[in-house]
Amino acid sequence: MTGWSGAGRYAPSPSGDLHIGNLRTALLAWCFARASGRRFVVRVEDLDRARDAGSASRQLEDLARLGIDWDGAPVLQSELGEAHEAAIAALRDAGLVYECTCTRADILAAPSAPHAPPGAYPGTCRDRSGAVRERERERIAPRRPALRLRVPAGTVAPRFSDALLGEVAGDIDDFVLRRGDGTVAYNLAVVVDDASMGVDQIVRGDDLAPSTPRHILLQRLLGLPSPPEIAYAHVPLVLGPTGSRLAKRDGAVTLADLRADGIDAGAVLAVLARSLGLAAPGERVSAAELVGRFDPAALPRSPWTWPGAERLAAP
Ligand code: GLU
Ligand code: ZN
Repeated sequence: MTGWSGAGRYAPSPSGDLHIGNLRTALLAWCFARASGRRFVVRVEDLDRARDAGSASRQLEDLARLGIDWDGAPVLQSELGEAHEAAIAALRDAGLVYECTCTRADILAAPSAPHAPPGAYPGTCRDRSGAVRERERERIAPRRPALRLRVPAGTVAPRFSDALLGEVAGDIDDFVLRRGDGTVAYNLAVVVDDASMGVDQIVRGDDLAPSTPRHILLQRLLGLPSPPEIAYAHVPLVLGPTGSRLAKRDGAVTLADLRADGIDAGAVLAVLARSLGLAAPGERVSAAELVGRFDPAALPRSPWTWPGAERLAAP
């Protein structure tokens, strides 16, 4: 162990049991943190009220079954609301927030700005006067306006250097900070929470890499640590039998499903370790042994296809 004061993290959304893809990302995040002498923290991303609250504790049990441990009690994102509101208030005081009354359909129907990436918010509500804003609020009542970030003119979308993807560039539009229903957006919450939990190493699925330039812009606007103080590693997804991203409908993909098929957590850890080039075929390993073998530079850079419970159960 070095005297490193930073932390890595895993931040699952409690929307049911973790599947093999989620577990592999969690294992990687844990290996990255432990192999670099960092603390490892867990945050339950439960802002979305529709989530299945009971699944968070099952997710934590599954992590522990694989040998993943964490420092301190898991943090519930829903309990960090004051910090989220404080960040929005700071941005608002800096003139960087505006109300948006657009529906999804409005945004799709609006002409997009020249050179804007597809799906980018066209800026419809960006420059409204106080009187127009007032009328708009009345027009959409009882729906309430969302809040968007006013990306300062001349902002160049931040690039970052990713441990697995290399140099990543992305586009930034005036993204949502708080939805009309009052829920704080992921892009705001993740930045505020990682900073308040002392996270300086972010390992997550590579589907989130395009959002990272937004996070880095927010870090800078809020005066929070940003790269190179914050390290990023976006890890390849796990694919299902059809070649698209593994999903629950792809059969037995959770530890509970696999246990019912006679495949224990040790066998799952073995196949995950094998998929990461950290174990020989069929070799049983402990999570702690993986940390000793872990070398980010040697990790596979392409998606891994889950072989399926049948293939694992076969002798
Ligand atoms: N809660 C997100 C998810 O489960 C992960 C967010 C993150 O790691 O930044 O997909
Ligand atoms: Zn709008």
